[in-house]
Amino acid sequence: MRPTPHKTLAASALAVAALAGVSLPVSPAAAVPHAAPLAAACTPAQVVANGGFESSTSPWSQSSTGVITNRAGQSAHGGTNFAWLDGVGSTHTDTLSQSVTIPSGCSSATLSFWLHIDTAETTSSTAYDKLTAKIGTTTLATYSNLDKNTGYVQKSFDVSAFAGQTVNVAFAGTEDSSLQTSFVVDDVGITVPSGADRFGYDGAFSLIGNALPVLAVKDAAGWHLDPYTNNGESFYSLSADFSVALDHPSTLLVPATGTSVDTPGSSGRTITTATASKVRDFAWAAGPFSKISGTSTAGTPVNVYSVSGISSADAQSMLTTAKSAVDAHASRFGAYPYGELDAVIDNNFWFGGMEYPGFVLDLVSTTALTHEIGHQWWYGIVGDDEYNSPWLDEAFTDYSTDLALSKTGTGCWNSVSWASTAEKITNSMAYWDAHSSRYSTVVYGYGKCALHDLRRVLGDSVMAKLLKDFATSHWYGVSTTSEFKAAAQAATSTDLTPFWTQHRVDG
Ligand SMILES: [Zn+2]
Repeated sequence: MRPTPHKTLAASALAVAALAGVSLPVSPAAAVPHAAPLAAACTPAQVVANGGFESSTSPWSQSSTGVITNRAGQSAHGGTNFAWLDGVGSTHTDTLSQSVTIPSGCSSATLSFWLHIDTAETTSSTAYDKLTAKIGTTTLATYSNLDKNTGYVQKSFDVSAFAGQTVNVAFAGTEDSSLQTSFVVDDVGITVPSGADRFGYDGAFSLIGNALPVLAVKDAAGWHLDPYTNNGESFYSLSADFSVALDHPSTLLVPATGTSVDTPGSSGRTITTATASKVRDFAWAAGPFSKISGTSTAGTPVNVYSVSGISSADAQSMLTTAKSAVDAHASRFGAYPYGELDAVIDNNFWFGGMEYPGFVLDLVSTTALTHEIGHQWWYGIVGDDEYNSPWLDEAFTDYSTDLALSKTGTGCWNSVSWASTAEKITNSMAYWDAHSSRYSTVVYGYGKCALHDLRRVLGDSVMAKLLKDFATSHWYGVSTTSEFKAAAQAATSTDLTPFWTQHRVDG
């Protein structure tokens, strides 16, 4: 991702999201034609009122005045207030509910909330105290003292079946006669994600990143089940083959990961079948795009899809940028292996740009588009654990972007000013989510400057060979910081230990 500097993110932490727009069925690894109706109009709306409990208690109904509270002993997920059900330690029931109307015509809707559970129960087998979450008469989930946790976790449920209905969202917590269990709920909401996001829509243009499940990674550290973050990415994934059939109205274009072939569908419809090998994810968009195409000097087909509002001159400029960027990166790190490259251009992207295999979202920006295309190598071809080591793709990509744009980074380390002793280029997204104002500066800025400095230590040709060899040896694999440090050390007789310490590259 190329974050927009100093972007303030709305902390809509427990959104219930309903996705509107075009419903396009997909079937990984199977090209199954499938008729999909267009969703009816779905009006974006936040349908849970006061989901963070910050505006007094209305319109919530609570069984006693103390359920919505800010009293000591528990803390909010966001803001000051939260809903504290139970925690009494004797036979007791607390309830909390409000009536919501989920807009009709929404193809999907998700109810989410954040939940923390602590308990004095010591059993590991008996659910003595329970919290039930319901919508209407449907029980979404039941939690108990056995689900105790530190901090909050977000719970999400598909409630699209309730589109067009007015129903109660309700929580009920019951305790037995002894040993307290506290069920603490915060930030409840239902929103329809309108907006030019990685997974959202901008007017008639649907942007479908991270829609298909990818397998979680299990390695020596165990399962990687890291949370989504708006500050960057945590999409640690391995390479896989995809074949996806998109059955869509013929009036829509569907840029997608991989190489696409169109065949006629039922009346007025087209089936676009996209196949991709050794990619870490599959993303697409759908809408009445303006499309222009070209081929890079090295032979990569490039398509630029523009939303309405992008001038033809800007689209042509982005096509020129994309063609030169894909060749510039390929010449340094290895030939682009994913067939065609699609760039979707929309100046409303709050995040700047976003990379997916063979498919990028971007503003009209030479630097940002060159960056996203650089990710085809750093994250795409050479994978990494983005959550724990975001610098491995972002700093490497920003460094590659500088090279592609003939920027040498001279003196850029001079502006480095650490915010604390804990701040390091190699910190994880868990750290950056708690220090989000520093993420771009340190991981992208200091990170690329560290690589420029490493180039100055090693020499241009040794650094170029180091990165080319590192990409080759990790082609379609996963890289780590320690492997990169070892490869760099093997390329020079200079002891790099002080260099890593000065540049705060740990691992
Ligand atoms: Zn990036």
